[in-house]
Amino acid sequence: MNHPEPLLPLVDEILPFPHAEEVCVSEIVARDLLECGPEVPLHEAAARMSERGVSSILVVEDDVVLGIWTERDALAVDFDDPLTFTLAVRAAMSAPVRTVPGTMRLHEMAVRLREEHLRHYLVVDADGRRIGIVSQSDVVLNQGIEHYLKLRTVGSLVKGGLHVLPATAGAREAALLMREAGLDAVVVDHGADAATTVEGRYGIVTERDITRLVAQRTGDRALGALATRPLVVCAEHDSLYRVRARLAERHIRHIGVLAADGGLIDLISFKDILSGMELAYVHELQHALQARDLALKSSQRNLYLAGKVIESSLEGIMVTDAEARILSVNPAFTHMTGYTPEEVIGRSPSLLNSGRQSPAFYARMWEGLVAEGKWQGEVWNRRKSGEVYPQLLHITAIRDRDGRLTHYAALFTDISRLKETEARIRDLAYYDPLTGLPNRRLLEDRLQVEIGHAARLRCRLAVLFVDLDRFKRINDSLGHSVGDKLLVEIAARLRGSLREDDTVARMGGDEFLVILNNLAGPDEAAMTARRLVGALRRPVHIEGRELVVTTSLGVSIYPDDSQDADTLIKHADVAMYRAKDEGRNSFQLFEPAMNARSLEHLALETALHRALPRKELLLHFQPLVDAADGRLVAAEALLRWQHPDLDLVSPADFIPLAEETGLIVPIGEWVLRSACEHHRAWREAGGTPLRMMVNISARQFRDEGFLAMVGSVLAETAMPPACLTLELTESMLMDGTERTIARLEQLRALGVGLAIDDFGTGYSSLAYLKRFPIDELKIDRLFVRGIDRETRDGALVAAIISLGHSLGLRVVAEGVETPGQLAMLQHEGCDLAQGFHFSAPLPWPAFVAGYGPGA
Ligand code: C2E
Ligand code: CA
Ligand code: CA
Repeated sequence: MNHPEPLLPLVDEILPFPHAEEVCVSEIVARDLLECGPEVPLHEAAARMSERGVSSILVVEDDVVLGIWTERDALAVDFDDPLTFTLAVRAAMSAPVRTVPGTMRLHEMAVRLREEHLRHYLVVDADGRRIGIVSQSDVVLNQGIEHYLKLRTVGSLVKGGLHVLPATAGAREAALLMREAGLDAVVVDHGADAATTVEGRYGIVTERDITRLVAQRTGDRALGALATRPLVVCAEHDSLYRVRARLAERHIRHIGVLAADGGLIDLISFKDILSGMELAYVHELQHALQARDLALKSSQRNLYLAGKVIESSLEGIMVTDAEARILSVNPAFTHMTGYTPEEVIGRSPSLLNSGRQSPAFYARMWEGLVAEGKWQGEVWNRRKSGEVYPQLLHITAIRDRDGRLTHYAALFTDISRLKETEARIRDLAYYDPLTGLPNRRLLEDRLQVEIGHAARLRCRLAVLFVDLDRFKRINDSLGHSVGDKLLVEIAARLRGSLREDDTVARMGGDEFLVILNNLAGPDEAAMTARRLVGALRRPVHIEGRELVVTTSLGVSIYPDDSQDADTLIKHADVAMYRAKDEGRNSFQLFEPAMNARSLEHLALETALHRALPRKELLLHFQPLVDAADGRLVAAEALLRWQHPDLDLVSPADFIPLAEETGLIVPIGEWVLRSACEHHRAWREAGGTPLRMMVNISARQFRDEGFLAMVGSVLAETAMPPACLTLELTESMLMDGTERTIARLEQLRALGVGLAIDDFGTGYSSLAYLKRFPIDELKIDRLFVRGIDRETRDGALVAAIISLGHSLGLRVVAEGVETPGQLAMLQHEGCDLAQGFHFSAPLPWPAFVAGYGPGA
């Protein structure tokens, strides 16, 4: 989620005069504050001002400010009527006088001046005491606008209406002229013969001189006696900056401007300079304010949007200050924790702690936050009701522009449902859903543990590989449901013939594995094997039929045959095959010298090496359809090997070998290229949009050149990357290393889709799943098989579908064989389906005939 930009710095940033933000009014105020009572006569007020050289006086009564009288107001005095000099200041003052606090920032002050159209403000301190008067000029002068002054010449202010009175004219006439023409000074001409220089010829009479006249209560006077002489002048091309410095240094407020030919062309006052500056300033300010208003509006809109998103988010959101005190929470927070905003705001998030995490856990969390500015993980917290629940928590430290930590934002989701599903899937992933026996994975775990035991106790253990004879025939002739019942019965008999602490597991299909612990010697294993062969041979009654199945059994012994779990299983497997060769219905102990299977392997390996150059490999294609309407959506490319002396060899039989030998790398590249070439032919023939699914084995995925290979195949075959989906298995991803994730991201960056194949048979850590950039889950056909008959598989498939959807993934069911299975999958909202119910994998010509253009 985007956090709205803080608003205040924005305002400061766009104001034209940056330093104005720091300066406050009390620093620039004229502290020379003159005050008088309301009944004081004008001449007296004027006298005080002249004496102190200030331009205004406050009218105060009983400590209340009534108004202000300024030099400007003095021009309004009627010099013809001496009585006006004695008029009470109350009658001539301007009122009211606004006050501002001394702490007000200059730029705020500028805004006030502009908005209220006043020229003077009374500045007060924190206790309301009057500090001084601040005028518009003070503010403008302090806005740091030297650059403006340096750029402009005094000539730019010349308006051309120079007012000159002869020295013989009276003060009354001057005041009248000044008032009517809006001047604060006039030039007094002493005549060309009075001096040799221009300055000497001219003098000046100002507002201030008139105010002095008011103070002296003298009537009219000749200007010649009143004027200040000589007139200070400057050249037309002087910069305003220089002129201002000149005025300041001489303590004067007016200057004459000389043209290039030396003639006096204008009288410029400090005010003129100011008003030019003011104009520029106000202009810029206006600009800045407009920009600010716009920015404010848009950030308010963003804020509003962000607020809405936070409010309606399904994730709990909590914002704290830098000290980790809660500032705000959203409705989802209340929903999940049971706490209302009133109950938590101002408190520490530790009130949510469940006590399940150690202090060291929190210490690491803080370390992560300090070092990286964020932390993510699973945490157990406590609801208000006391219930403890798991959540996926994401904390971000928020810093302002200067890098100061200001807030923490915590986003969390309740993952108890996810955890439940995960536990169920894990449960199912360790047990065979059909027989309830441990599966291969759990067996391998247990065998490791038992080997450790046996090593410590210095005793033997045996691994028995049990395989039903001719099970496939029963399955094919009597149907899967009979086959399944038979397997359940065999499992029960195995279990019933063994001790409590022996392990029985189903390896898949009709293969079982048994671990016998605590053996006295190899004879004991042989005796148990014989007993099992006998027990399994007894007739089984299923659906009114009597079936007799025999078993072949291979035995390997720890530590005699091997000390390693994998090898023990392999050796038991080899021994089992020997039992089959010997005529079935029997058992064999493993003897290394008699490893017939390894010879078989060797022959197959040699043949497989030649398969690629001899072009014995080909692809079959199986359709994936939209589960809702049966429309063709994708095709999975499945590898076949046409061995010259054999039937078509199933990938299940040679891919493990290809993986072991590394041949899978060139073979896999051939598969990918060939699948893309077929896709191109499909496109060129005008087939419906089609996604091509290609299986990738673990060895390929880890290969250094894999990414580059995919990239160049895409380019060479002009394959649109979006039309290609790679099928990976859970076990390839479950190491969860950064490298794995990086590789997935790189593949995604190529634009290809990623699917998890055989989902449900691996570790199924859903928290990991969340971190992977994948688009699709393919539910293993083992689970699909049982859904219309067995409730446990049905529930599991439903859980996987809803889980997949909650993670935003498409879900595919593979191995769909019956209308009943399809109906259930449709009911659960499964997206795509694949299986014999729709079509078996087909050779390309048959696939095109069935689904291609014109089909
Ligand atoms: P898989 O990826 O799970 O492929 C689906 C397998 O299920 C295929 O077996 C397919 O024929 C079979 N199948 C399809 N519909 C049904 C159904 O309704 N019921 C049943 N019982 N089975 C069905 P196939 O072609 O023998 O492939 C077996 C495995 O070999 C594949 O399993 C895949 O893991 C691997 N494989 C196949 N081609 C390639 C390949 O090009 N590269 C790699 N690395 N592995 C491949
Ligand atoms: Ca597959
Ligand atoms: Ca599969």
